[in-house]
Amino acid sequence: MKVKVADLEFETLITQLEIQNRIEALGRELSRDYNGKSPLFLGVLNGSFIFMADLLRAVDIPCEVTFTKLASYFGGTTTTRNVRSDIELAVDIRDRHVIVAEDIIDSGNTLAYLVERLKVLKPASIKVCTLLSKPDAIEIQIPELAYTGFEIANEFVVGYGLDYKEQGRNLKEIYRLVGE
Ligand code: 5GP
Ligand code: MG
Ligand code: MG
Repeated sequence: MKVKVADLEFETLITQLEIQNRIEALGRELSRDYNGKSPLFLGVLNGSFIFMADLLRAVDIPCEVTFTKLASYFGGTTTTRNVRSDIELAVDIRDRHVIVAEDIIDSGNTLAYLVERLKVLKPASIKVCTLLSKPDAIEIQIPELAYTGFEIANEFVVGYGLDYKEQGRNLKEIYRLVGE
């Protein structure tokens, strides 16, 4: 399917059913790996809010959830190395098993910044769970990355929480920019 988001045209890359099935599988994996550990899911706003809502409901062990806000893209379709932290953590993560939930890893700069900041707070463990990653775009390897929903090509995507000019987050599928 094709959709217009702001001034650009996008087409379906990953369907709603594919997303659902993959998240169910991630939830089963996390439930097995974190059984007895009561993990703390830490979502990175805004992009991860829909992923987090579905991921959390795919997990069937005791767990908690909180959010932080970081931004590296400011309205466009290319990455910058400027990472900005908008809200401080509301939960003490010391000695907690933290699972960072991200919408997408592009260069890796945003996540590398966050993981370094989190380590200082001495959690029992940190792992990253991302819905999407672009292996060809990565600039910084993230050893904590343990769970990936889908690896995609180096192209700009929207939908399922991800925006273009703050629009398109409500789309149920994941769409790629047409003509890339
Ligand atoms: P990184 O720091 O890894 O380069 O970029 C991470 C952040 O940039 C993501 O959390 C996301 O907010 C944004 N981003 C990266 N690639 C895309 C993309 O293809 N589409 C959208 N909408 N945002 C992206
Ligand atoms: Mg993000
Ligand atoms: Mg964005």
